Amino acid sequence: MKNSEIKIKVLNDIKQSKLKAEAEADKNLELAFKDEEFKSNYKEIKKLKFDIAKKEFAKKDTNKDKILLKELTEKLKVQANKLGYKFSDFRPNYYCKKCNDKGIINDLYCDCYYKKLNEALINNLGINVDKSHTFSNVKFDIFDKPNEIKKVYSHVQSWCEKLDSTKYKNVVLSGDTGVGKTYLLDCVCNSLVQKNIVVNYFTAFALNDLFLKYRSSFLEENSSLLDGVINCDVLIVDDLGSEPNLKNNEEYFYLLFNERIVKNKFTIISTNLSLEGIRQRYGERTFSRLANISNSLAIKMINSDLRTEIKKTTN
Ligand SMILES: [Zn+2]
Repeated sequence: MKNSEIKIKVLNDIKQSKLKAEAEADKNLELAFKDEEFKSNYKEIKKLKFDIAKKEFAKKDTNKDKILLKELTEKLKVQANKLGYKFSDFRPNYYCKKCNDKGIINDLYCDCYYKKLNEALINNLGINVDKSHTFSNVKFDIFDKPNEIKKVYSHVQSWCEKLDSTKYKNVVLSGDTGVGKTYLLDCVCNSLVQKNIVVNYFTAFALNDLFLKYRSSFLEENSSLLDGVINCDVLIVDDLGSEPNLKNNEEYFYLLFNERIVKNKFTIISTNLSLEGIRQRYGERTFSRLANISNSLAIKMINSDLRTEIKKTTN
């Protein structure tokens, strides 16, 4: 599916969810209206609210009306409970309380839109993050050095939990194959998604493909193609350095990482490369964006060796 089609579909899905929530609330009210006492009290409250608004507009005293409104509302609550409803059943239960499932607030796309768009884009790329990979489910005993790996996991978990206050915009997880970097990234992704943070997850290979697509696509589609990777709150890139080594694409990696720093966004990558390896492969500029001593956390994961270092690029 084309990205422009995915965008339309996501907006449509949000609209459907709004209609569904509203229809559900209407249906509950309609059923409760079968009870005449409930219905007449409900209508009286509605009229009273309107009267209060009118009086307030005319700067008239509304104290008595407000006392009556409180009484009637309490009564309605009891009536609703008797009928097996909660008050909230008569209000649309929107998925997104920020935009009430419009997908847009003040002419800007809401976070829920980006979240759904990211999910749709990720699905479209065929990346499946295993939902069972969570920080609480890790089996550390499969590692040669469980305590060392545990330290790394808890370090990264605390980064996820303190995202609001951390100064580390980038995390670089380096280490050989088999130390559990991808599993750790899955945990990061699942824990952030739980908190409704807009996450985008790519293998470096898929990101590379996206850059190729971007370069070969038409202008109209171009503008939206990289939206998700540039604007998501947290970008996860698995296995940086495993993608084909294309000169032009390395420029895109630089532009992406740079843009995300400018926009104050978080990026976490895993790589088999050492920091020096990143410098050699992607050049000084990209290296300085990813491993800048003031805002990057470099973590080296070593399992089979005696050492597992948690090395910050700052002291
Ligand atoms: Zn929203």
